[in-house]
Amino acid sequence: MLTNEQAKENQKKYGWNELAEGRKKSCITLFLEQFKDFLVIILIISAIISGILGDAESAAVIFLVITMNAILGTVQTLKAEQSLKSLKQLSAPEAKVVRDHAVIQIPAKEVTIGDEVLIEAGDCIPADGKLIETASLKVDESALTGESLSVEKNLEDVPENAAIGDRTNQVFSGSFVTYGHGRYEVTAIGMNTEMGKIAYLLKNTSEKMTPLQKNLDDFGKKLSIMILILCGILFILSILRGDNILNAFLFAVALAVAAIPEALSSIVTIVLSFGTQKMAKEHAIIRKLQAVEGLGSVSVICSDKTGTLTQNKMTVEDYYIYPKRISVSELNFENDSEKELLISSILCNDGMITDGEQIGDPTETALLAVLQEKKYIEYSFSDVRAACPRLSEIPFDSDRKMMSTENKCDGRYVIYVKGAVDVLLKRITHIRKYGSEKPELINEEDRLYIEKQNLEFSREGLRVLAFAYKELDAEKELTLEDENNLVFLGLIAMMDPPRQESKQAVKECIKAGIRPVMITGDHKVTAAAIAKRIGIIKNESEACEGAVIEEMSDEELRTFVEGISVYARVSPEHKIRIVRAWQERGNIVAMTGDGVNDAPALKQADVGVAMGITGSEVSKDAAAMVLTDDNFATIIKAVENGRNLYQNIKNAIQFLLSGNLAAILSVLYASVVNLPVPFAPVHLLFINLLTDSLPAIALGLEPHTKAVMEEKPRPMKESILNRKFLTDISVEGLVIGIMTMTGYFIGYSESGALLGSTMAFGILCTSRLIHGFNCKSRKPILFTKKFFNNPYLIGAFGMGLLLITGVLMIPGLHGIFQVAALDWQHLLIVYGLALLNLPVIQGIKLIRVGRV
Ligand code: ATP
Repeated sequence: MLTNEQAKENQKKYGWNELAEGRKKSCITLFLEQFKDFLVIILIISAIISGILGDAESAAVIFLVITMNAILGTVQTLKAEQSLKSLKQLSAPEAKVVRDHAVIQIPAKEVTIGDEVLIEAGDCIPADGKLIETASLKVDESALTGESLSVEKNLEDVPENAAIGDRTNQVFSGSFVTYGHGRYEVTAIGMNTEMGKIAYLLKNTSEKMTPLQKNLDDFGKKLSIMILILCGILFILSILRGDNILNAFLFAVALAVAAIPEALSSIVTIVLSFGTQKMAKEHAIIRKLQAVEGLGSVSVICSDKTGTLTQNKMTVEDYYIYPKRISVSELNFENDSEKELLISSILCNDGMITDGEQIGDPTETALLAVLQEKKYIEYSFSDVRAACPRLSEIPFDSDRKMMSTENKCDGRYVIYVKGAVDVLLKRITHIRKYGSEKPELINEEDRLYIEKQNLEFSREGLRVLAFAYKELDAEKELTLEDENNLVFLGLIAMMDPPRQESKQAVKECIKAGIRPVMITGDHKVTAAAIAKRIGIIKNESEACEGAVIEEMSDEELRTFVEGISVYARVSPEHKIRIVRAWQERGNIVAMTGDGVNDAPALKQADVGVAMGITGSEVSKDAAAMVLTDDNFATIIKAVENGRNLYQNIKNAIQFLLSGNLAAILSVLYASVVNLPVPFAPVHLLFINLLTDSLPAIALGLEPHTKAVMEEKPRPMKESILNRKFLTDISVEGLVIGIMTMTGYFIGYSESGALLGSTMAFGILCTSRLIHGFNCKSRKPILFTKKFFNNPYLIGAFGMGLLLITGVLMIPGLHGIFQVAALDWQHLLIVYGLALLNLPVIQGIKLIRVGRV
């Protein structure tokens, strides 16, 4: 064991316990990467050539615009990376170590050589080390050895050169505890662990693209090909018309750069990563970006009961010793029968209370807390435990639904067992009745009586544990066989009230077209009572036990799940089948889990949700999202965020694509009717590379609305670029294109191509800035508060307007940006036509979707 001082020294000496990450890209690399786009390279080459041939000014401006765009891109990428990094830190694994004689929980990164680490089922092993204590310890080392079966660990010596899989007295970082518990001393950390030695295999695993990013990437590629062909045709047409080849080429490339929406998928990353910051503040930490999209389409949420829908603040309410129900206030420690039950609840228990703080499973600490509160200090649990030391144990697991310990009390060897009532009753042969010293054979009537009492407790929504014991002739290592022929001691019933916000969250969930399903290890009647209270079910026929589905084929289960909203006495295996059945019915399923065995179900679900407080490290590792408050209502809030983020991304895409389309349509039209091209290359670059990306990102940061929760979940398979969306884009692109060309005609007919193209440039740029407001919503919002509720968009608009006005008004810039000086009438026309987009597009929205 280390002292805190020694730990600090060791940390200084050996560094942090972490694997070296793949080399991070530097700012400069990120900046240079912004130039690696094929078209940008061509553009630079063409600019250089045109510079050499005498047009140094436009070459310089093109460089300037591209550089500023690259700076903008670098800043955005850095910010997105930073927010993802801080998110990762939030969900970093933790470890329990003993320092200065106290058990403390620290980030796994701070574990150091010499630390004594406590591990139990569900924990990830934070560093390599040698075991000093084990209790039925089993470890999954598949990440290291590929062996999927758990390895049993013990303290026996192994040969020095044994293979990793055979070193049964050691544990290794990267593996996790599947059963039992233990204690070990750390011998290697970070890159010196066995995992560290193979860590180069894990380096540089980049974040996978989300389905939306893939979808947009595919779309972007197809669109790029079309645009390149179009630009090729325009290039040939210009040459046929006798234009200068280099100019025509530069223009074609500029048009391609402007029209190809290469920023689509990076906009998604930026918006998602900023969105996850907001979600983290609201207690939902996203571990995989895909989850945000998944959340938007979730149609079934399978949730644990204990702690998620309920408070997990267990308080013991009643005791029962055949045939007497005893409330906590009537408890009498002097009575031998009661004392025996209370002592078993202390001994067959891994909970701890230190300085008023409860450590361990709330079910277990509640059993101790009640004794402290009732001031049975003379029977303080640590005294009882010291008087009856534990010799061996079979830990609790949610498959067996019980646990056993073997203790030595007054020279007797006693097994104490506690667990679910129905499970224990099957293993009971004798009973200790109230007031009687000796166990007697249990008969059918006694059993029925106990079951009746269990039912009574459960109907009151109480969670019931049964207690039993058995005396052994001699000390022995406990096996599963020993958990039979037991003597019934009594029941303890505890209350775990629903969380206050659960009822409202369930209501919202149903309104949003999402089916809430409760999955719990608890008794069916208890579960149904709680589910009824919070509105998940109306009557008990909607509840069933896990055993029922055991008999069913997958096909039968698929039909069955529709009618059931509460599954009780469920094992982790049932959970996977339930998720799969809902998925096969075409649903997107979110599933919560906390135990070590829940990892497969969390992985199977579309959005695996782990519990930040009570969840095992393994479940957190398998999950796509971690709830820092373990609260069901947080999942609903996360769904709302997911839906809003998706809508915002969609709005940003609509903004980019409709604006790009307007530019293409204008150029195409001019070319078809044989007019000079309406823009100089630098105009297109200015708009697309400078004034466009900020409003697009601002749209991604649009304030969230509750309205998204009034809609049904979005089908996951539905492409974001569906017909309706593409029609909206085309119509809006056309409107902006018409305004642009109107201005072009006015300028062109008055004084030729330069004034025409200046006005076209001014209108297209300003229209797109104004169009940002159109893209805030599918519905018309012109005279609503929503119009002004996004300060980022207003900022982006102001900045863009300042830039374009500067270019149009500052005489020194005219030559560089190839614009004519505008008098105030022309300037008014530019702003007027650009502004006209607003009522026209809002009017179209009004007709298309109806007024809200
Ligand atoms: P949920 O699945 O909603 O979290 P749960 O906590 O009841 O509910 P499990 O932890 O799998 O689910 O517990 C299943 C059953 O096992 C409980 O209903 C209880 O009867 C019994 N049980 C729970 N905790 C313990 C424990 N520490 N020792 C012995 N038995 C327990």
